[in-house]
Amino acid sequence: MDEKLDTLISLITNQTPAADITLLKKAYAFSSRAHADQFRASGERYFLHCLAVAVILTELKLDANTVTAALLHDTLEDSDVGAEELRREFGHEIADMVEGVTKINSCNFADSESAQAGNWRKMLLAISRDIRVILIKLADRLHNLRTIRYLPPARQRAVATETLNLYAPFAQRLGIYRWKSEMEDLSFAVIMPDEYRTLHEQWELRRGVNAQSIEIWKKLLEKIMGHAGIPFRFSARPKSLYGIYRKMERQRKQFADIEDIIGLRLITDTASNCYALLGIARNNFAGVKGSFSDYIAMPKMNMYQSIHTTIRDRSGAVAELQIRTEEMHRRSEYGVAAHWRYKEQAGLGIVSGESGIEEIDEKLDWLKHVIEWQNEFTDSREFLETFRTECMFEQIFVFTPKGKVIKLPKNATPVDFAYAVHAAIGNSCCGARVGNRPVPLDTHLQSGEICEILIQKNAHPYEHWLAFVITAKARSRIRRYLREHRA
Ligand code: MN
Repeated sequence: MDEKLDTLISLITNQTPAADITLLKKAYAFSSRAHADQFRASGERYFLHCLAVAVILTELKLDANTVTAALLHDTLEDSDVGAEELRREFGHEIADMVEGVTKINSCNFADSESAQAGNWRKMLLAISRDIRVILIKLADRLHNLRTIRYLPPARQRAVATETLNLYAPFAQRLGIYRWKSEMEDLSFAVIMPDEYRTLHEQWELRRGVNAQSIEIWKKLLEKIMGHAGIPFRFSARPKSLYGIYRKMERQRKQFADIEDIIGLRLITDTASNCYALLGIARNNFAGVKGSFSDYIAMPKMNMYQSIHTTIRDRSGAVAELQIRTEEMHRRSEYGVAAHWRYKEQAGLGIVSGESGIEEIDEKLDWLKHVIEWQNEFTDSREFLETFRTECMFEQIFVFTPKGKVIKLPKNATPVDFAYAVHAAIGNSCCGARVGNRPVPLDTHLQSGEICEILIQKNAHPYEHWLAFVITAKARSRIRRYLREHRA
């Protein structure tokens, strides 16, 4: 039998011994035949791209049908195969996924903002039907980036730009950090080749030093933590070059002045042991001011959880320390897909089709809402901007006077808060109090604050609110009001 097929099968059956791979085998032969006389810019057989995408997807440990659809993902667009044939041979579930991927493919390229916004909408629409379509699309993009050097330069830049604007933020929003970082670094190398090369060289020069210091940190942490009897494992990773580059830009620093380019991790079993390990770290290392975040108590909107703190040893060396449980760790690498898998393993049934989407949606309610609200936006650029905002920001928790928790992106204002509580409250909002003090409507709310919205019968939204609200919900509701009450 084919060695490559064997490898793919074992990647799946190692995770799920009972997986039905009949269709997968069939798809392998089918796709190989359909793309038989096609070659990629690299000179490789086209089918090898389809296979590579399928292999990348097995990282997410999804069901065999998703991997099967990945093998077939370019058959509709790039071969003579028709949708009916796919449906007949592989059934609705797989054929629908392939069609979903093909619809996203047929978008215009990212030369304009509105084309990009159009792509976002298509991605969202695809997600609302079956999130696995996006996962296939992300794996497809990742493999295209890995082989991007064979494309003409202009095309390389277009693909890389679109990746930084669309695919990487999407991967981030879905919590698939592993793919996000790789996409960013590969795109960075294309878009800013000089900056990338310089940084890469500096990085290489420090490689030995970094490896040494990781060893030193490892011994130190194991020695200190070892006495406490808390189970944990240590892992370390160099931060992504693009991440370092952005930090240098943000803080206007040279590479040599960026201190914490090494990320250390302690992975343990329970959340309370995370805090126990944090306590030990604090007793033994100096902290670095302003560098502590507790995403366990306050998860990011994509469900990311971990404690982040920066520690300094006696010699003055600095490293970022992340503390998390195994489950949080899986989720931080593979995001929504890890969550999915986790449930599947927990015996809550095979998650596929509609039911799976609903359950994931519940956790990622931003997604459901953005899909609902996107129709309110007539201006594509505004939509893109708002969606990016919702993607990038951390989550804060603000309370109503009655103690109800309202989740908002960081930098949200009382108007965002009002609309999050209820559209009618937003529409009749005329003022706000935080902790019993009146505040301007454009105030940035902070986590833990109690916000009270003052309403009046004849109050109404104003156009200038659009300048400071940041949530899609507030923005779309204000727009709707203005449209309906245009004199
Ligand atoms: Mn492809």
